[in-house]
Parts: sequence; structure tokens; C-alpha cells
Amino acid sequence: MTDIDTLRAILELERKGDCVDKAVFGGLDKYLQRQARRIRQGLILTLNEAKRKELAPQFLANFDELNLANYDYASHSIDERKIWLASILDWIDKLEKAKQGDGTPRNRVRGALSVTRTRFSGGRLDSPITIIKDITPRVATRFAKLDVNTIENLLYFFPRRYVDYSQRKTISQLEEGKEQTIIASIWQAKVATFGNLRSTEAIVGDETGTVRVVWFNQPYLAKKFPANTRIIISGTVREFKGEKVFESPEWELIKGTEETIHTARLVPIYPLTQGLYPRQVRKWTREVIDGYIWQIHDFLPCEIKNRCQLIDLSHALTQVHYPDDQSAADKARERLAFEELFLLQLGVLSRKRDWQENQQGNAFDIDERVIERFLSCLPFTLTQAQQKVFQEILADLQKPKAMSRLLQGEVGSGKTVVATLALLIAAANDYQAALMAPTEVLAEQHFHNICGYLAKIADQEEKAPNIKRYSGFLSKPLTIALLVGSLSSSEKENLHHKIGQGEIDIVIGTHALIQKTVEFSQLGLAIIDEQHRFGVLQRSALRQKGFNPHILVMTATPIPRTMALTLYGDLDLSVIDELPPGRQQVKTKWLKPQYREKAYSFVRREVSKKNQAFIICPLIEESESLATRAATTEYDRLSREVFPDLKLGLLHGQLPAGEKEEVMRRFRAGEFDILVSTSVVEVGIDIPRATVMLVEGAERFGLSQLHQFRGRVGRDKSQGYCILIPEAYSAEIKERLRLMEMIHNGFALAEEDLKLRGPGDFFGTQQSGLPSLKVADLSDIHLLELARREAIAVLDSDSDFAKNENALLKERVARLWSQSAEWS
Ligand code: ADP
Ligand code: MG
Repeated sequence: MTDIDTLRAILELERKGDCVDKAVFGGLDKYLQRQARRIRQGLILTLNEAKRKELAPQFLANFDELNLANYDYASHSIDERKIWLASILDWIDKLEKAKQGDGTPRNRVRGALSVTRTRFSGGRLDSPITIIKDITPRVATRFAKLDVNTIENLLYFFPRRYVDYSQRKTISQLEEGKEQTIIASIWQAKVATFGNLRSTEAIVGDETGTVRVVWFNQPYLAKKFPANTRIIISGTVREFKGEKVFESPEWELIKGTEETIHTARLVPIYPLTQGLYPRQVRKWTREVIDGYIWQIHDFLPCEIKNRCQLIDLSHALTQVHYPDDQSAADKARERLAFEELFLLQLGVLSRKRDWQENQQGNAFDIDERVIERFLSCLPFTLTQAQQKVFQEILADLQKPKAMSRLLQGEVGSGKTVVATLALLIAAANDYQAALMAPTEVLAEQHFHNICGYLAKIADQEEKAPNIKRYSGFLSKPLTIALLVGSLSSSEKENLHHKIGQGEIDIVIGTHALIQKTVEFSQLGLAIIDEQHRFGVLQRSALRQKGFNPHILVMTATPIPRTMALTLYGDLDLSVIDELPPGRQQVKTKWLKPQYREKAYSFVRREVSKKNQAFIICPLIEESESLATRAATTEYDRLSREVFPDLKLGLLHGQLPAGEKEEVMRRFRAGEFDILVSTSVVEVGIDIPRATVMLVEGAERFGLSQLHQFRGRVGRDKSQGYCILIPEAYSAEIKERLRLMEMIHNGFALAEEDLKLRGPGDFFGTQQSGLPSLKVADLSDIHLLELARREAIAVLDSDSDFAKNENALLKERVARLWSQSAEWS
């Protein structure tokens, strides 16, 4: 039964009962006052989707005209009541008929009622918010900072939380320190000065007593509060000199029977920016809900809503701003969160289908001899997990469809070897292959390692410091190049040319690989290392360098399952869940800064055993040059005061690439005992003799990042140690550092990171290109899986959104994904 049906039933009952106001307990006026807004919303829901656009403005205008809540039924004579009841029932009849589509609703309704005023300015959901009265262009620029530009944006501008002012009390019941609401009359209000703050002070009273109310620094309010005005006050009461007083509470004058927005309810608190004030914004959100919600069409098919027990969109949007109670707010948020995740899943999944099902790719032949030859040059055999993952990759490469695979594996699990094999297979098939790493140091390390392996089985010929050629391995010579930003421009040009001519088979590089000027002649495989450092955009840029190249992305940041499903839903997943034999857990301990000396003597002890140590300087995110300065200072101090007898190296992001490599090469060769470094050393770097990782300012790093650091030591069967020294240590920091001591599983730490820091921090700002989630919480696995299941079901049954019930959905998905760049 809709709210309109209920209204009709009550009015008919009242008419049958001779209009003596006995139909509802407490009287018709009370009912109407309480329910008017609900009925108004019910009216919108009653009109079906198709008719809404056409009918809603008229009927809503009529409804507002009827002004049910203010008719004051009780004060009218029986005859007047009869006429009034008849006119309302008549209007409801017209509504019913119009809904069923007979007759021309406009004229008939107009005939029944004189329409003199309408709230509908003709604005649409995509109209700029400036069509709302009082939203000036200046205010609009403030809203723009919050990404609110249109009416629809404002409907989707959700409160961060609610304050519960629903607890109504009489003045005598007021308790100190709680959030409460009173309804009272103003006895007097005047401007008063406290300290040097001109303020407003009022005495308000109800039948149980009076209470003082002060609004600091708002003298202008006094004028708004003439004596005897009815006012609602919501806030916390304090005790001052034995007397209860409300200090700067929320307030609202009682205007007719309009529903309150600032007081006496769950009041929305919006995430505002400078120059936007809570009361204004509430007024405007209320206004757009009342004026525009009827234009919202729910794009979720009914079947899904029923199956997942989700409420209607208009209802959810209304309730998320001004909920009836907490459970209504929760229901609204659930619906909106589902919507976000569902659309996200539809986007990534249909993307995946496009890639995998509709697009041709290049099928590679697998030459077992190439694989065997390469494996024979390795000083180890692949672990079971490496073999399994390699088989998964091989299977993809042989298909005439582009591979889209995410390879996850703990730090040190040996992803590079697997990647190298894939690069060689591409080359053996006369395709070019590229490996993109997030930093120059890493790209150089990959280059160095791969060349090192190949040198054992083939004749090496250096064409340039960054280009090497191997013969006697494949049936033709194999050329490998390193492309990084710090090459001279002539070196770069030369390399670009060779890549364009197909003279280079395998390119290893950084972002330099995805510059516009790089054109491959035949890119068949693109591998991206440490994916979490790259945005979706870079992934796509590399993909576009070839004709549907196979794509493999690798990450050592173990991504929680929910996250992987959401952000990488377009990729297949392979996991190396095993470390090479003989690796031991890195013993981890955190130390208060005053015990730093202990850490130093520990470092000394390890160095005396011919081992090496890293000392990481605190994270400085603002700028690389600040980080460099800090690291340089620390390096000077350590070299002069702490370890004057040891050999120290310094690594930071601002060193030219050549020097970085030189530092790493010398550290690897044992020329330094200790490497002082900024966080550039975080990913991938491999130094077999390093056993100690000392991290300063440890609280500034995420758990996953600390885990990455720790993965840099103890790689050569010897015991590794990680010492974490925070600058400050609150209870919360201690707790996190303790997690590092206890947990050695990267996935578990990633889950903790997600809980502690949220998804935004987890991926850093680089994770751009995906629509942002406003309501959904990625740790809500249940909802995420539900959304994914429903998305799969839609795509399975109607992959092109051709069915009628999916028409609105199609439009919504297209709109959402066209806004995020990768998908355009
Ligand atoms: P990550 O997965 O962190 O990128 P790497 O590929 O850099 O790891 O490998 C880490 C180290 O482990 C390297 O020194 C590599 O030579 C070595 N390694 C890789 N696979 C094996 C294996 N199956 N057995 C022993 N050592 C291995
Ligand atoms: Mg690696």
C-alpha cells in the first residue's frame, strides 16, 4: 500500500464517518502534519517511471497547493470538511487515472484546482546548481571544489554523518552533556557581549521551565527571535554557574508544519569547504530533494532490487540526506553503496569481456627449447608456485586473445624470472616485448639481472651502455635495451628510432616507455612491474602501444581480495604463494628513539660478519628535494659521528640514473657496508648480503610499505632483521608497529592497512582513473560480492544491455565510465 493509498483510505473512512474527525487517532490534522512530506514522496513513487517526467511537476504542484498539513481540519464546519474531503479524493482519482494513462492529465487536473504557483522552474538534473535561488556563481565555485556542479551532483552530495537530535525533551528533563532537542517559546532575546564577542542571548521556556541559550559571535540572530516565537533548539546542554545553558545550539523557528532540517531529527553533517555553511547547505539539499527528486529514474532493474532487498533510488536519495531514523539511513546507504560497486563491477567486467572475448590478440608459439635453455642458466629451480603461474601465463600467450593478468606475489617470491621467461617467448615469436618498472633503479636492476642470466647462455655484445645484443640463444640475435628518462636526448632518440624500426626485441624501462614519442613496430607483450605504483592510465597507455598486446601486471603489494575484485576486476589473477626454499622470516622489532644506539651497535655487529645494512630515512611526501636533503644530512651525521670507520653509501631519488645505478652496483658488490636511502629503495631491489633494514620515522610508512622494505633483507638464506624506529609513538602507532613484529604475511598486513588507512591511502594518489567511491566501503566483502554477482548476471544474460529493463542501466554505465579517462 502506498502512502497515497493510505491517505485515500483514511479520507474515505472520515467521509463515511460523517466528517467528525474520528478516522485517525489524534485527529486528521496531526496525521497530515506528520505525514505530508511522506505522502509527497509517496506521490513520486506512485507515478511510474515512464509517466513521471510528464506528470510529476503538475501533480506535485497541485499537492503543494492543497497544503494538506495546514488546512486545519478541526476548525472547519462539517460542510466545509465535506467539500474539502471531496476535492482531495477527486484529486487522488485524477492521479490514479493519469497514472493509467487515460485522458490528458494536465487539463483535467487544472480543471479541478486552480494552480497559481509552482515550485518547478523547469530545471533538470543536469542544470547547474546556480538555478537554485541563493546559489550565486561565487557559492557555485565553492561547491565546484567539492565536485558539485549540477543539481544531480547536489543530490549525490552525501552527508558524512548525522547528529542525532531526535531525542526530544522538556526543559525540566534536560541533562548535561547529551545531545537533546527542546521545543520552546522565546521569552526574550537580546544582543549580549561575552568577553569581547558580540553574541545573542535568549531565554526560552516551555510548560516545565526556562533555559538560557547563547549563540556566541552571532549578534544578528537576536533580531530573528521576537518574543513568543516558537523555536526548536538542538544541542548539548552545559552547566554554567549552577545553571543549564545551551551554547551555540542548532535552532529552527517553527514554520507551519514543515519538517525540520536542522533540529529535532537526525541532522545531516556535510563535508564542507570554506565559504559553505551547514545551514545553507541543508536548506539547498532539502530544496533539491523536494524540487527535483521526481526526475530521478531508478536504473537498477526491479529484479535486482527485489533479490538484493534494496530500496528505490528516489527513496534512498531522500533518506540519505534526511533519514527518518538510523535504520532508514543505513538502508539508504546500503542501496547507494551497492549502486557504486555494481556500476564499478559492470565497468571493469565488461571491459574484461571486451578485451578477452571480442578482441583479437596474437597467439604465440611456445618453443620448449627456449624455456629449457633459459631455465638451465638459472642458479636455482623454479618453485612449484612459480611453475604453476608460469603455466597459467603460457596458456594465455598461446591463445589468439589478449592476456590480461595480474600476478601477485610476496616480496622475494621470484616474479621477475617468470616475467623474463614471458619476455623471451614474445621475442622468440618475433614480437617486441616491454617491461615497465616504477623507478629507474628498478628498471636498471631488471636490465642488469636479465642480461646477467642471458650472458651465461649466449654471446654478449654491448652496442651501447643501455643496449646489449645476444647471439646463439634464439634463432636470431636478441637485442635488449634500457629506456629511462635520464638518458641523454640523443640516446633516447636513437633508442626510439630503433624501437620503431623493430631493431630492439625487449625494452626495459620506466614511464619513459609510455611517452608519446615511443612507437613500437610490433609490441606483443607488455609487463608492468609493481602495478600499485602505476595508475590505471599508465596501464592503458602501455596497452595502446601495440595491437592488443598481451598484458601482465605484477605486484608485490598483496592486494586484499576485495580490493583486487574491485580495482582489478578486469584482470585474471595468478598468485605466487610460496617463497623460494631457505628463506627465513625477517625478525622484526620496534625501538623507542632513545634506544637508537642499540640499533647502531646491532648494525655494527652484522657488518662485522660481512653483512650489509640499509638505513631508511623518514618519508617526506611533499617533495623529492626535501627528502634528498634529509637523507643527505642523515648520511653526513652517520658517516661522521656514528660509523666513521665504516663505508656508507647514499641513495636518493634526485641522483641521476647513472649514479643511482652506480651506488646500487657498488652496494651489491660490497663496497658499502651501509646504504642510507630515501624510500626509493622500497620496491624490488635485490641485495643478497643485506641483513639489516633499519627504518627511521617508521610510523610514517604504511604497513605494506614497511613489509616491502623488510623484504629487501635476508634474501640469501641468512637471517634478516628489521628494526623500526618511530619518531613518536602513540598507542595507535605502537599497535601498528606491533603488527609488524607479529605478522609476516603480506596479505594479512595489507588487510590491516586497509582497515587502518582506508583504500585511498593504500594505493596513494596514483590510483587514478577509477570512479571514486563515496558510500561504499571496500571492506564490505558481502556487498561487494553481491554487486559482482549481480553484475556478472546482467552481463551473462544481456551483455549489450539490449533488454528493455536494462536501458536506463546502459545509459548510467556509459555516463559513469565516460567520465573516467581510461575507458573513454
Ligand atoms: P620479486 O617477486 O620480489 O620481484 P625477485 O624476482 O626479485 O622477487 O626474486 C627475488 C630473489 O629470489 C632473486 O634474487 C631471485 O634470483 C631469487 N629467486 C627467484 N626464484 C627463485 C627460486 N625458485 N629459488 C631460489 N631463488 C629464487
Ligand atoms: Mg620484483
